[in-house]
Amino acid sequence: MYVCGPTVYDVPHIGHGRATLTFDILRRYLSFIGLRVHHVANITDVDDNIIKRAAELGRTEPDVAAEFEAKWWEAMEALGELRPHETPHATAYIEHMVALVTELLAKDVAYETPDGVYLEVGKVDGYGLLAHQPLESLQAGARVEANEAKRSPLDFAVWKKAKEGEPSWDSPWGAGRPGWHTECVVMSLDLLGEGFDLHGGGRDLAFPHHENERAQAVADHKAFARHWMHNGWVEVEGTKMSKSLGNFTSLPDMLERCDARAYRLLVLRAHYRSPIEVTPDTVADAEKALARLDALARRFGVGDLLEQTDEGFVVEGTAPADGIDPGALAAFRARLDDDLDTPGALADIFELVTAAHSAADAGGHETAETLARTAAVLAAALGLTLRADAADIDEATAALVTQRDEARAAKDFARADALRAELTALGWTVEDTPSGTAVRR
Ligand SMILES: [Zn+2]
Repeated sequence: MYVCGPTVYDVPHIGHGRATLTFDILRRYLSFIGLRVHHVANITDVDDNIIKRAAELGRTEPDVAAEFEAKWWEAMEALGELRPHETPHATAYIEHMVALVTELLAKDVAYETPDGVYLEVGKVDGYGLLAHQPLESLQAGARVEANEAKRSPLDFAVWKKAKEGEPSWDSPWGAGRPGWHTECVVMSLDLLGEGFDLHGGGRDLAFPHHENERAQAVADHKAFARHWMHNGWVEVEGTKMSKSLGNFTSLPDMLERCDARAYRLLVLRAHYRSPIEVTPDTVADAEKALARLDALARRFGVGDLLEQTDEGFVVEGTAPADGIDPGALAAFRARLDDDLDTPGALADIFELVTAAHSAADAGGHETAETLARTAAVLAAALGLTLRADAADIDEATAALVTQRDEARAAKDFARADALRAELTALGWTVEDTPSGTAVRR
């Protein structure tokens, strides 16, 4: 699967977290049922926003891109996501993109103007497939463009000629850089091959980004993605969250305030195509639900049951059917095989939790343990690890944890970071939770 990655010019926001969690959950589930998943996500490291940001900061574009890419992976790791197997960078694919633009011109589906090379969408079969609208109605709704050299307002740049001072690469059309839509079509086909299984991203990418990727593949006579998957966005008080609306919440800020697992749980509670509402109330509610899972782990000792490992580019599927309830496993699969019904699967997991406690209270220990183990394994298959708490912390570690909480309370972040490094060196995974530093092996 190819999932559109970030343009690295700012810290990720919670909408990015929702999108990447959606595909992390999908990947884990596919791998859990025994499929081999090869996950590619790109990094856009040259673009107008990066150029603008670098100019504002008085720094170079590669410097800005490297900083925000590091921040991106740090946040995704904090969310407990598996890294994509490959993370191609746009700037490493310029030659491939020049080759595609050359090909599109040779096939007479693209044309050159004073400021770039454009794809003529009217020459592409089925343009509008992802927008779910025919070309005519898209054209009627398109905003009138100042760029009169374009044959249609929907035509898009596959190559942008460089303006003074912009980063650029040589091409047959002079110095410039590729258009964003060209990046993803070239990298996905190169790394996954023609007719690859799944292309994903946020709902806002369906049109025009994915439509335009597909248009270039079709124009170049290549079989493109066989399935498309788009996740819904994040709403803050009923409105789509976005930077331009000013209701933007950064992911690192949010992860300072809540358990990363609670955000995953919040994402799992909604169908991937539906919007999710992130408010202090919905987050607190997810934390309460998470506490129920952790309480199960404590009572039955079923934390950390399913460890997913990466071997080269293959995630080995593990379906630990031993000791888990076969009916519950079948029901779980039926839910998720139906367009990834995570709310249904999660509701079933919570029913197992209730049933495990009831069975144990009634003295049916064997049944209770099977149910608890089943709930823990199925939650872990969605990336939700239950934690039986860090009861095995030795005194020296506990002292470091206390010192770190004190440093954070005093806003001495340098000291807090040094203490985190010390704990990490001792083999602990360190996390920030609402009740302070939490560590586990
Ligand atoms: Zn893309």
